Amino acid sequence: MLRLLALAVALGGAVPAWGGALAIVTTSTDLKALVEAVGGDRVRVESLAPAVHDPHAVDVKPGQLAKLKTAALLVRIGLDHEPWLARVRRAGGDPRFAPGGPDDLDVSKGVELLQTETARVRSERGVHVHGFGNPHYWLDPANARPITRAILEALARLAPADRDAFAANRTRFLARLDDALARWTEALAPYRGTRAVVVHDSWPYFARRFGLVVVAAIEPAPGVPPSASSLAALTQKMRETGVRLLIAEPSSNAALVSQVAARSGARAVVLVPSVGAAPEAGDYLALFEINVRRLLHTLGS
Ligand SMILES: [Zn+2]
Repeated sequence: MLRLLALAVALGGAVPAWGGALAIVTTSTDLKALVEAVGGDRVRVESLAPAVHDPHAVDVKPGQLAKLKTAALLVRIGLDHEPWLARVRRAGGDPRFAPGGPDDLDVSKGVELLQTETARVRSERGVHVHGFGNPHYWLDPANARPITRAILEALARLAPADRDAFAANRTRFLARLDDALARWTEALAPYRGTRAVVVHDSWPYFARRFGLVVVAAIEPAPGVPPSASSLAALTQKMRETGVRLLIAEPSSNAALVSQVAARSGARAVVLVPSVGAAPEAGDYLALFEINVRRLLHTLGS
């Protein structure tokens, strides 16, 4: 069946499908959730990276490579968020998914990025260093608007007859998101201006949306662990300036987080950076629901 579909594509025929639905591969569970929000039952979506992973070391399985070969579209975060994707593309060898290829969708193109002034860091290993702007932009719920606009256009190109259905799905999703965003903003309003230290610099978009102020990251550069002396300087500064909040993630070094919290007097909260990285974060709205709840619990206690 898959071989027949691939042949049909080669001959300019049917758009790749799995079980009668458009076959879409994403690089993250967040993008999977957003493609599903627009595509509904007309898409079948696979994420190459699991919900919790080290951005430097995603281990893509042969079965997933086979999925990509039979997909209609690759949807990705872009910038330097997926250094592992180059290897996947080399293994797949399909020019459709090369950067800028016809079935390659980099959704960062429509998003207003933060930290683009960061000096570009060149590396032979091509690591995730935020060298082209901060790539964690899906953590501002308002960025779902440009992301889903790009997804809508790509899906409608592949299945023009379904454009109205995709547009209606997106409108319904954004209406629910807008309602929830108003509620989250109101709930966090009393804490606007709260200064926070983060472990990895994943939260500038989230912080800007909800009025938190990220004053420092424990990692001196993205992905680089702190030295003992830089940690000591940071915790002293946190204490002196009264930083109340320390934002960690499920993948953070828990011993390091509790050490910084104990030394600085800040309260640590584990926020969920991706759909599926906590059981309660089952979809894109639930991701913010749980993060807002955890923040309120930490800041209110
Ligand atoms: Zn990062």
